[in-house]
Amino acid sequence: MFCLLGLLASFAGCSQNEVKSTEPMGKVYFNWFDTVSYVYSYAGDPAERFEQLSAGVSGILTEYHQLFDIYHEYSGINNLCTINRQAGGDPLKVDPKLIEFLLYAEDLYHKTDGEMNILLGPVLKIWHNHRTEATDNPGAASLPGQEELLEAAKHTAFDLLEIDPQQSTVRLVDASAAIDVGALGKGYATEKAADYLQQQGAGGYVLNIGGNIRIVGTKPDGSGWNTAVKDPQAPDSRYAATLNLTDTACVTSGNYERFFSVDGKQYHHIIDRDTLFPAEQFASVTIITRDSGLADALSTALFCMSYEDGLALVKSLGGVEVLWINHDGTMQYTDGLQDKLVN
Ligand code: ADP
Ligand code: MG
Repeated sequence: MFCLLGLLASFAGCSQNEVKSTEPMGKVYFNWFDTVSYVYSYAGDPAERFEQLSAGVSGILTEYHQLFDIYHEYSGINNLCTINRQAGGDPLKVDPKLIEFLLYAEDLYHKTDGEMNILLGPVLKIWHNHRTEATDNPGAASLPGQEELLEAAKHTAFDLLEIDPQQSTVRLVDASAAIDVGALGKGYATEKAADYLQQQGAGGYVLNIGGNIRIVGTKPDGSGWNTAVKDPQAPDSRYAATLNLTDTACVTSGNYERFFSVDGKQYHHIIDRDTLFPAEQFASVTIITRDSGLADALSTALFCMSYEDGLALVKSLGGVEVLWINHDGTMQYTDGLQDKLVN
């Protein structure tokens, strides 16, 4: 336990949100979505039950990690990397799980008025390349050119993706189109793991999958967990707010997560489809809603919207609370968040 808490502390900086805790049983994983993940149980279960349930969670996340990987293929499965590689070619047979996910992503594309678009791949690839180059050689950091971005944006319409649920096939009709599920994949997979835990009758579990927090149930005494939202101005050392949460997801999109600098200005990883540049409205947006997939999608979408448009969207959806943190550190939040705030 001592070692585990030491590990948790040393990797806490990698996640967007943190559950502050006493004495959980827990495991740390490094193999999903290029990030650090934790599974905790506060249920007071026997160790064998925790072993069995965490192995179940691990199997689910490993499977979705492989299906959603856009950089590697795995033997025996057609994943998003395969779909992207075959862009412009014939329909590709895929696992029905991938079909279900892509239909969900399509629904969220429409719900967010196109702000969260998994077909933004060609534009995101350009930013990814510039970020990687800047990380390797900060002195040579450069910004993408406007023409290059506009050209890529021509290949990002959602209808370039053909999904055939009957045949379980997928096809990108444009050879330059590409899928990127960075905004949604982690949250969606986390929700599948939470579904599994619920089916197993488990409560008192907390999943932290690369900062996507999903709380399953309550503590044995019925109380919630204090979940901290980082202060964007000092993400490694300060919290902007603490929320007491039960049975819900908590996902943050922040400008401090992945970025590079050019001429003293930071360029982060969430791209506004209108400007094709990093969205500048907020320092971070945190979503609290039960479905972790929805929370992940909305955190990215609302990060790219005005406060008014984001508020109107979540009001129309219902059951979603939001904490917006502005660049100057001031905050706005939905009415229902008030009674979750600690202090
Ligand atoms: P994180 O990955 O840090 O949890 P997000 O959930 O906000 O943060 O997802 C950001 C990732 O989503 C980016 O790295 C990129 O892969 C992808 N992305 C960025 N902007 C958009 C967008 N407007 N629509 C869909 N995906 C996006
Ligand atoms: Mg997201």
